Amino acid sequence: MYCDRGKVYIEEDDQCIDCENFTKHVDCPLIQALALGYVYMDDILNVTNCNFYKHYERHLKLVKDLKKED
Ligand code: SF4
Repeated sequence: MYCDRGKVYIEEDDQCIDCENFTKHVDCPLIQALALGYVYMDDILNVTNCNFYKHYERHLKLVKDLKKED
């Protein structure tokens, strides 16, 4: 996880990748504090054992390629 110009970016190693709070953005207290500038990050942080973590099951859905049908 890192913050750049008020935007928070999550990386594959972060626990946030499958956290329900990340999918809702503002429900994560850490992301909210970083994005609002209440706390600052000196470097990249790897989130591995977050007490606010809530597991979220991602369901990917394939969609038709509309361009091929034209
Ligand atoms: S609650 Fe923790 S694990 Fe979830 S998105 Fe926020 S920092 Fe990441």
